[in-house]
Amino acid sequence: MVVTRRNFMKNACLAGGTALMSSCSRADVSGGDSDGWQPAYARLEAEGKLAERIEQAQRKFEKCDLCPRRCGVNRQAGEKGFCNAPAKAMVFSHHPHFGEELPLVGRKGSGTIFFSNCNLRCVFCQNWPIAHEGRGRQVSDSALADMMLDLQRRGCVNINVVTPTHVMPNILSAVRIAYRKGLRLPICYNTGGYERVENIKLLDGIVDIYLPDLKFMDGRQSDRYAVRGAADYPQMAQAAILEMHRQVGTLVTDARGIALRGLMVRHLVMPNRVAGTQAFVKWVAEHLTTDTYVNIMSQYRVEHRAFEYEQIARAINSEEFVEAIDWAIQAGLTNLDERSVAQAQMHRRRLR
Ligand code: SF4
Repeated sequence: MVVTRRNFMKNACLAGGTALMSSCSRADVSGGDSDGWQPAYARLEAEGKLAERIEQAQRKFEKCDLCPRRCGVNRQAGEKGFCNAPAKAMVFSHHPHFGEELPLVGRKGSGTIFFSNCNLRCVFCQNWPIAHEGRGRQVSDSALADMMLDLQRRGCVNINVVTPTHVMPNILSAVRIAYRKGLRLPICYNTGGYERVENIKLLDGIVDIYLPDLKFMDGRQSDRYAVRGAADYPQMAQAAILEMHRQVGTLVTDARGIALRGLMVRHLVMPNRVAGTQAFVKWVAEHLTTDTYVNIMSQYRVEHRAFEYEQIARAINSEEFVEAIDWAIQAGLTNLDERSVAQAQMHRRRLR
């Protein structure tokens, strides 16, 4: 679906759906850009609810249950749980990123903030120095807000928070600080998917774009390939994605094709069908909508400790990627990432 920002608001009013209706109301918030589009958090702030939501989130640091691991540690008192994250956000880098899905990039990039540490920690992680070793520096919420504003000044089309789960309260606080200083970009919540629904509910009316992974469909695989196991990953990620979809619906873009709001799901094809790609596409078709934006990714590499595991100690081959895209088409998915489809065509030519 492609709309101008102005038509997006008008159609939202006419559509009457929950997600679109909330966007419709956002048109009335003062202080927005010239054509009236507003990020979700602007409305929540105008209603006086954003501060309360941040307080609710920050209380979670005292007995941390920000993710399904539910460590129960008091991060405010300096205790650390599985993710090894302090109560302050740690950031590895922030910069315009051009490697994300095209609707997130525009001409000047996705405003990406890479957070250190991770609550899942896959053994094949491509960002292991950041996610496993926690490289980065601690920043205040105010400094985090300044990074968001810097990305906006540089022309980025969203604020893309990468691996946000364990620092969600800091992000919310920073969004409010930045909003009061002029932030008007949609927040893109770029998560590995190991989430708790009750925490995703705290983001309702704050996040406009959800970008979750659905990495595994079988708990035995997520248990094997996450550090210290995560057998409940498929169940937790699926429940979280359903809640994300309830909040923001399918992807809506502006006239330039830039994402304004909606759900975009990622799935990395792994060797030997470890990720459960066929089950993944069926699940999307049956539980979301067939026009959900889906990126089936081919860039699996043997990283970090993957070489210790026989089934995943190689790259995927052309057959594996082509069958993944074919399964998606057979499942009726109509909004596949265009670069993935182009890559599949290239692999298909190789197989002839
Ligand atoms: S966010 Fe970190 S400390 Fe909190 S429950 Fe998850 S792994 Fe444990």
